[in-house]
Amino acid sequence: MLDADVIIVGGGLSGLRAALDVSRAGLSVLVVEAGTAVGGRMRTTPHNGFLLDHGFQVVLGGYPELRSVDGLSSLGLMPFDSGARVWRNGRFRELFHPFRHPSKALRALRSGIASPLDLVRLARYSRPRACAHPEPLHETTAESLLRYRFSALFRESFLAPFLSSILLDPLLGADAACARFYLRMFSGAPALLPRQGIQALPELLAQQVGVSHILLHSKAQSATNREVVLSSGERLMARKVIVAADSTASAHLGGPEQTMPQRSARTLYFSAPEPPYHDGVIALNGEKDGPLVSLAVVTNVQPSYAPPGRVLVAANLLGDSTRIPEAEAVSAVRRQLSAWFGSVVSSWEFLRGFAIAAAVPARPRMGAGACSHRGVIFSGDYLSYGSQNGALRAGRAAAQLALEELGSLSAA
Ligand SMILES: Cc1cc2nc3c(=O)[nH]c(=O)nc-3n(C[C@H](O)[C@H](O)[C@H](O)COP(=O)(O)OP(=O)(O)OC[C@H]3O[C@@H](n4cnc5c(N)ncnc54)[C@H](O)[C@@H]3O)c2cc1C
Repeated sequence: MLDADVIIVGGGLSGLRAALDVSRAGLSVLVVEAGTAVGGRMRTTPHNGFLLDHGFQVVLGGYPELRSVDGLSSLGLMPFDSGARVWRNGRFRELFHPFRHPSKALRALRSGIASPLDLVRLARYSRPRACAHPEPLHETTAESLLRYRFSALFRESFLAPFLSSILLDPLLGADAACARFYLRMFSGAPALLPRQGIQALPELLAQQVGVSHILLHSKAQSATNREVVLSSGERLMARKVIVAADSTASAHLGGPEQTMPQRSARTLYFSAPEPPYHDGVIALNGEKDGPLVSLAVVTNVQPSYAPPGRVLVAANLLGDSTRIPEAEAVSAVRRQLSAWFGSVVSSWEFLRGFAIAAAVPARPRMGAGACSHRGVIFSGDYLSYGSQNGALRAGRAAAQLALEELGSLSAA
């Protein structure tokens, strides 16, 4: 007897998008998720009245795949300001998006970090293309920034820390197409945070799939084209199986990719009595010193992330700094924050840290996000590109493939 027409392994964004599209086509679905909740890499933990996302993460309002997500307005999304506060040579300098914050646009030039030519080149670099998704250029981001001849100051103090923190890639070895895509997304619409934390986005999809169609605490041990065996020994039967797990888990389930190299990220959360600044921009480390790459005063954007009277600060680290012991990382970050904001930092309380060894795939396939392999459909950001948009796209592609394959099966 069938447990569902389609069984989907993985309740991250990709698996949930696939589940929703399959069920909307009139087929029954069952999502099996190893974790205690849906969301995968988009999880939020409540902590003494704070909401702590498992690694600082934003939703980019310009993502094309968000257009097909119903009910986004129920998430209470609040926008970041489009700009950055860059720490360089002992002080902060401000850069604001010229069209979104016209009254502050001149500060970009007055900051001394960006020349008029840099701004023209930036517009050219992130110019919209016909394609709504990144296409591989086979050029690294670092190479592309040199090719576009940005000034060294603009490149080192703004572009490098900004793109590193988005791509979670301190050396900017990621495909330049991704960097350009993200810059385009950032210049098209603001970055957003949901009222209930980043997990609210996958939770929204899960509600639409229906919680009765999602089995939590259910780890798939093996997957074939019609059967999923859980680690409990339970066997689940379907007409089609989609594996929408991360690249490592997918490889264990017979996926098309060997284990892929991953990029790591670490966020250290602090509670402060007062915000170190009052607007909704990200602070960037425009120098090579210190472990901190970027910092967000989360409650300046979404006050629901902290209890009344407290401020939530997210300090973000990449690369080697994600692997050192947490106490060491906290001390190093405190030293750096004290240089940035002064003695007030001694009143900041460290809440909790999240070090994620496999945050995004370092060399994703940059394809449509799904493929059929030995009768099983595999899906996930690693087959597309490491982002919520890539994962949603991957889920949509997997559902389409499943529906096509089932259509041809029933015709046969
Ligand atoms: C710190 C951090 C910051 C990020 N920042 C951003 C950002 O600002 N903007 C952005 O767009 N993207 C960001 N991303 C990337 C984005 O979160 C991911 O690309 C996206 O969530 C991946 O979704 P997915 O469904 O492909 O994979 P996952 O979220 O990894 O989902 C896979 C699911 O499969 C489950 N699973 C695995 N194995 C099994 C098994 N054997 N049986 C059952 N279930 C299994 C897992 O538990 C998981 O729930 C960030 C990621 C991290 C970690």
